[in-house]
Amino acid sequence: MIKVVKFGGSSLASATQFAKVGNIIKADPERKFVVPSAPGKRNSKDTKVTDMLYACYDLAEAEKDFSKELKKIKERYEAIINGLHLTLSLDDEFKIIEENFKKKAGSQYAASRGEYLNGIIMANYLGYDFVDSAEVIIFNEDGSFDADTTDKLLGERLSKLENAVVPGFYGATLGGVVKTFSRGGSDITGSLVSKAVHATAYENWTDVSGFLIADPRIIDNPKPIKVITYRELRELSYMGASVLHEDSVFPVRKAGIPINIRNTNAPDDVESTCHHPAYTITGIAGKKGFVSVNIDKDMMNAEVGFGRKVLSAFEENGINFEHMPSGIDTMTVFVHEPEFAAKEQAVISAINRNAHPDSIEIEADLALIAVVGRGMKSTRGTAGRIFSALAHANVNVKMIDQGSSELNIIIGVSDNDFDTAIKAIYDIFVTTQL
Ligand code: ASP
Repeated sequence: MIKVVKFGGSSLASATQFAKVGNIIKADPERKFVVPSAPGKRNSKDTKVTDMLYACYDLAEAEKDFSKELKKIKERYEAIINGLHLTLSLDDEFKIIEENFKKKAGSQYAASRGEYLNGIIMANYLGYDFVDSAEVIIFNEDGSFDADTTDKLLGERLSKLENAVVPGFYGATLGGVVKTFSRGGSDITGSLVSKAVHATAYENWTDVSGFLIADPRIIDNPKPIKVITYRELRELSYMGASVLHEDSVFPVRKAGIPINIRNTNAPDDVESTCHHPAYTITGIAGKKGFVSVNIDKDMMNAEVGFGRKVLSAFEENGINFEHMPSGIDTMTVFVHEPEFAAKEQAVISAINRNAHPDSIEIEADLALIAVVGRGMKSTRGTAGRIFSALAHANVNVKMIDQGSSELNIIIGVSDNDFDTAIKAIYDIFVTTQL
């Protein structure tokens, strides 16, 4: 039996936290492979080492003095090493990092050092082998992830080891250029390691209080989710539930390895389940900061290829679209505001050029809320309840999108109505317990 354990940044932010983690690992001999994040915040005013590294590298890239910033990062690690009474020096590592910063090795290289150094400390503390992820987690030159090569290299390497620490978040191209996943990506590394070693479970240890039906910053004491499917987990993570990186579901799902989120209210994660959800909905998550681009053209419905022409304008500018509800003579494309804002005019001219619409209107400051649940499929009136709850709460619904899987309903509202809308939906399904 092999378990892979991933620890988040706040679980590894200090020597005290490291010691707790050490005890957890040693308490179960099946916990053979460990994936650490970089040290996170020790308190709410603290800065994550990953953010310190990004900031430090920005100075290096601007050819400014970064020695003070790098020293502060070194001190974070030294506090952990000294607190654990280890005889380990990172002096040589920091010399190499400094040189590479001067050579402008890239911000992804810079950020990856957070996990790399924490992995060295963790391996030393546990007496486990250290496996540099740059040698076994493989990316393509364009920064995309190479799943097949990774699975092969990682599997071969780890099969020879009894125990090992594999730092999260980064890997490298076969040519050795370090690349990272997106933020929070150590969850993905944990999932990849689990698949490569055919783990019996992937334990993801985090400081948040369980996977909850809704964000505790919006709802007071939301109820925990008891059983969640991979698909629900991915939907909710993607839409802002910050427990797990949304892409970490795929490798373990394919291999049928359960993800076990370890904390006070730990749910079990399963592919499919006969457990009836406690409520019609499993969870609610959402994100602010969307823009809708509304495109009108008379007789749009009769024009073959109109949708493709519009979407190619986004594609040409490297912009991902989120949702695309449409009418007879109108279609709307939802995009992320930060990504879109920089290229707005280029996209609009491309739509005009490609599709010759009658008008294009843009609305900013929109939020998308996903109401997710396998229980919605067999229940009549779910959408009706959502919309009457929103109407009672005085929230104007700007967009509705329900996939045919009936696993989720996406609702677009104004950013200002975000919290009110989530509260209204939570109340109607959970507080009133209907
Ligand atoms: N340290 C990285 C971040 O802060 C990756 C991770 O923690 O998973 O995003």
